[in-house]
Amino acid sequence: MKKRMILLVGAVLFLTSCAAAPLTSSSNDQPQQGIEDTNPTLPQGQGPDEGIHQETLEALSDGDLTDLEIQGILFMREEEKLARDVYLDLADTWGMNIFSNIAGSEQSHMDSVLTLIEISGVEDPVGDAPLGVFANQDLQTLYDDLIDRGNQSLEEALLVGGAIEEIDILDLQDYLAQTEDGAVIEVYQNLLNGSINHLRAFVRTYERQTGESYLPQFMSQEAYDELMASSAVRGNGGGMGMNAAPQGKGQGQSN
Ligand code: ZN
Ligand code: ZN
Repeated sequence: MKKRMILLVGAVLFLTSCAAAPLTSSSNDQPQQGIEDTNPTLPQGQGPDEGIHQETLEALSDGDLTDLEIQGILFMREEEKLARDVYLDLADTWGMNIFSNIAGSEQSHMDSVLTLIEISGVEDPVGDAPLGVFANQDLQTLYDDLIDRGNQSLEEALLVGGAIEEIDILDLQDYLAQTEDGAVIEVYQNLLNGSINHLRAFVRTYERQTGESYLPQFMSQEAYDELMASSAVRGNGGGMGMNAAPQGKGQGQSN
């Protein structure tokens, strides 16, 4: 994915303005005994974005997406599927809650992007594709690699989680910089907040399991440090005044 090369460049700049999208880091950080359970660190595991309803997005949308924006939503739809599918597989292999919880969140990310796709009237690249099958060949290759890697050991699996979230963050930042559509921004910002949250959870769990520091795999060290340092406690969401609505709350305060 050459795409990421470009992303890396933009990411640093972008991060200075928007990285401070810390979500949860809400409390419950104390080590549960060893393995399992990062549950408590993900109070909104089921997706902070459940609040984005189609009507809200329709109201926010400018109506006409550019080709670039369309490409973006088609890609992100499958990238979120990649995250979901990898985590489901790793949940199965390692039986650790962090994977199943975050898979649930990725499902809601997929749903949000699907809403954008439906509003735009383009064809959904996912349709009823089974787990682990992608239209985009880059994503297919990435998926295959990550599954191989993640099944080698629990440590590798947690690193795979970190890798996916880093890639997601970089891609979302890139796509956010290319759109002015209110609905697309709303969804991407929400996904970005979720990804940052997920990255933190994987990092915490990895470090707890291994006693080693997590090293960023795709982000620059600076961008990563900045992201991790911006740990304002936001409880459930709050996002940037956007929609990271507290669970069950519906209607985000659209901006
Ligand atoms: Zn996601
Ligand atoms: Zn994620």
